[in-house]
Amino acid sequence: MPNRIPVTVASGDGIGPEIMEATLRVLEAAKAPLDFEHIEIGQKLYHQGHSAGIRPDDWKSLRRTGLFLKGPITTPEGGGMKSLNVTVRKTLGLFANVRPVKSLAPFVVTKHPIMDVVVIRENEEDLYAGIEHQQTDEVVQCLKLITRPGSEKIIRYAFEFARRRNRRKITCLTKDNIMKLTDGLFHRIFDEIGEEYPEIEKEHLIVDIGMARLAAAPELFDILVVPNLYGDIISDITAELSGSVGMGSSANIGDRAAMFEAIHGSAPAIAGKNIANPSGLLRSAVTMLVHTGHGNVAGTIYNAWQRTIEDGVHTIDVYSPMHSRKSVGTAEFADAVIERLGEQPRKLPPVRYEADRPNIIHYTRRPPAKKTLVGVDVFIHWPGEQVNDLAVQLKEADNDRLRLQMISNRGLTVWPDGYPETFCTDHWRCRFYVTDDAISIDGGDVVELLKRVHQLRLDFIKTEHLYLFDGRPGFSLGQGQ
Ligand code: NAD
Repeated sequence: MPNRIPVTVASGDGIGPEIMEATLRVLEAAKAPLDFEHIEIGQKLYHQGHSAGIRPDDWKSLRRTGLFLKGPITTPEGGGMKSLNVTVRKTLGLFANVRPVKSLAPFVVTKHPIMDVVVIRENEEDLYAGIEHQQTDEVVQCLKLITRPGSEKIIRYAFEFARRRNRRKITCLTKDNIMKLTDGLFHRIFDEIGEEYPEIEKEHLIVDIGMARLAAAPELFDILVVPNLYGDIISDITAELSGSVGMGSSANIGDRAAMFEAIHGSAPAIAGKNIANPSGLLRSAVTMLVHTGHGNVAGTIYNAWQRTIEDGVHTIDVYSPMHSRKSVGTAEFADAVIERLGEQPRKLPPVRYEADRPNIIHYTRRPPAKKTLVGVDVFIHWPGEQVNDLAVQLKEADNDRLRLQMISNRGLTVWPDGYPETFCTDHWRCRFYVTDDAISIDGGDVVELLKRVHQLRLDFIKTEHLYLFDGRPGFSLGQGQ
């Protein structure tokens, strides 16, 4: 049959098989032109020694179909296991995670009856790069990577999404008052790209007050564009605010592939009881149909689903004696949606989807900046307490090109001019800076400096080069400087 689309399907763990079966039954009853290729993922495969929770051969199916309808998986505890979600997102380049949340009041109880928010979350970088190290007895670190291509792609995606859907406003949330370089870059790119979309209202909020306002008054928001970690937190908050985490859907979109899944997890406590709400996965499948150009079938399913909710046929997570007519299980909920295929909701606005293949977002690398090395931060594992003792030792590593400029502990400058009240760990950032701006240094100077530090029997555990990019510092100053 022409125009049928192959989709890789995996049920996952916990409630996954029940909600997947319900979802596939609705898709089949609606005659969605999809051909399913079933693969296994999750706990069982982790236990068989597949550290990513998927058989290596099954990547072939994912890469061939480029479409993945995925059930939730139970994340294994213990080292050596990789998050399947993070691996799939990065391997297939799924840079955008789109999570729409709309209130269904008065049919589903919510404190926020006017709520129609789409969270667009960066999906591949930030603290999820997973680069962590223990460096001293007392200190571990996780690298937060924010890149220009990653930020440009997600922010442009958000503006294009807003334009295609006639949405009025985009709010960007960051913490750039503290993380001036990383979150600062995300914010700056939001401002830069926003200029190309004059018809869309733009707003930036610091993430803490932004989330607080969202929880109190979601009707003030329309689209949110956020770095990965904030997006993870905020999309659960929004789904819960709308009534149940069981109804939240998500689309993970890349240029060549896409993955669709409910936002909730495997809910092991209710698994196998036929009580889970399949709506999150069903709505994700609807988004998949729109994404593949089958807006008509998508609309038929979504309208039948809205009608089911309106008719008060509810799973127990959203059941309320005041607003519900019938409490049903997972399978019966799917039956109720199937019975209503072809019907429109009476009060909720019926949907009509246009084919919505998002534009491919191209990134064009800019000409490189003039990069000048002006110093190096040498991180030292040192268990002493009197920073002056460390400074006296390190001063012996000075030469006429690089000189100790400051020492900080957990980001706060403690030498020179520190205070005895400041608590210090065993992890010291020791900044060596050029003795004169006219001096040009290179990697050889850093290597020579490290040799001198090594001869002083100090335990250097990492270095970070200090560069100017077109004359602007590409490094943070110590707090208190
Ligand atoms: P969870 O989302 O599974 O459950 C949170 C709460 O919501 C529970 O009370 C649960 O019963 C309820 N709930 C969730 N989905 C529901 C549904 N469809 N219908 C009715 N109630 C529902 O979160 P958790 O308990 O923190 O995590 C359980 C497991 O799932 C963990 O191993 C976690 O790592 C994993 N997880 C996986 C994914 C994923 O695969 N995408 C996402 C989140 C969590």
